[in-house]
Amino acid sequence: MSLSNKISKQVKNIPRSGIRDFFELVLGRDDVISLGVGEPDYSTPWHIREAAIYSLEKGETSYTSNLGLEKLRESISRYVSHCFEVDYDSSSEILVTVGVSEALDLACRALLNPGDEVIYHEPCYVSYDPSIRLAYGVPVPVSATVEDGFSVKAEEIEKLVTSNTKILILNFPTNPTGAVMGKEELQKIADICIANDLIVITDEIYSELVYDDEYNHVSIASLCGMKGRTILLHGFSKAYAMTGFRLGYSCAPPEITEAMMKIHQYSMLCAPITSQMAAIEALENGSKAVEKMRQDYKKRRDLIVREFNEMGLPCNLPGGAFYAFPDIRGTGLTSKEFASALLEKQNVAAVPGDAFGANGEGFLRCCYAADVKLIKSALDGFRKFLVDIKG
Ligand code: PLP
Repeated sequence: MSLSNKISKQVKNIPRSGIRDFFELVLGRDDVISLGVGEPDYSTPWHIREAAIYSLEKGETSYTSNLGLEKLRESISRYVSHCFEVDYDSSSEILVTVGVSEALDLACRALLNPGDEVIYHEPCYVSYDPSIRLAYGVPVPVSATVEDGFSVKAEEIEKLVTSNTKILILNFPTNPTGAVMGKEELQKIADICIANDLIVITDEIYSELVYDDEYNHVSIASLCGMKGRTILLHGFSKAYAMTGFRLGYSCAPPEITEAMMKIHQYSMLCAPITSQMAAIEALENGSKAVEKMRQDYKKRRDLIVREFNEMGLPCNLPGGAFYAFPDIRGTGLTSKEFASALLEKQNVAAVPGDAFGANGEGFLRCCYAADVKLIKSALDGFRKFLVDIKG
């Protein structure tokens, strides 16, 4: 019996993640040097793991409030106020979720009606397009170009606004390019959102991981008139190396938080209590550990970007996150051809840029949240591969 016609059209129409497809080729091969997976190579700092263990020892194994533990929401409120300069009420404007992934899905499902358009800058995180489609929205990518450092221009966004546009998704620092956005351009984007009555979903999961000491991360939620139309998404996966804890949160006006919570309470009920207890420890006492990891990522970024440029693969210096996005167009190969041949000939894995949307074609995403020795071996593989293809 074929079950194919039983699957929902919506699900049939979304592609599998290009990252997953590529990494199935790598699965089970321990000879591969991988710069592929977008997660820290560190384990979660010990004091945070200890908080999780202690919570289990105390027998804290129950459900929590749908919104998340009150103590955690209060911690989040203080943290967001301190880092982003926006104040959120912990009882009505903060929802603790299973990662930013769930928060993104909730935000799209809470807001979109069939046919509503969502603008987002591309190349981008792989989940935006499918999350929009699964909520019956229409994805409208705006291209972010290498010439602009993969930042996005307000005027390019404005050109795509129609009477059906409901949401703009922003992600700075950006996965996969590491791009950051200055306050001036962000203000122009905010003005467009206000003029066109748009809601902004801002995914700031990498906001702690910025490397230029002169650069100050600004959230669009903090700009005048924006808090009431913004959903700020953040989480613990990246800065605190807590990907497996699966914990994130949204900060949004009460009506939107309530709408997201309604979906969350039926689909997820609540985020795991053990992870929530660990997250309180992360927010209250985790800043030193984050700073140490940030310093290490910065050294690795400098190394990988310098070497890519030296070997003839032009690469912008990313302002944040932990990805380098070298330009491989000069080789004449597509990003899939390059990545497949690099894997086959040198056992080095990186993600083809087109996995992040058509605008990522011609580039590769290389995650430098990896051991320096491993990065150096991967770079040797790139060098040998380039010599090889030049013949
Ligand atoms: N948003 C961006 C931009 C990401 O890069 C990722 C993970 O790679 C996520 C969200 C998902 O984060 P979480 O682990 O909190 O679900």
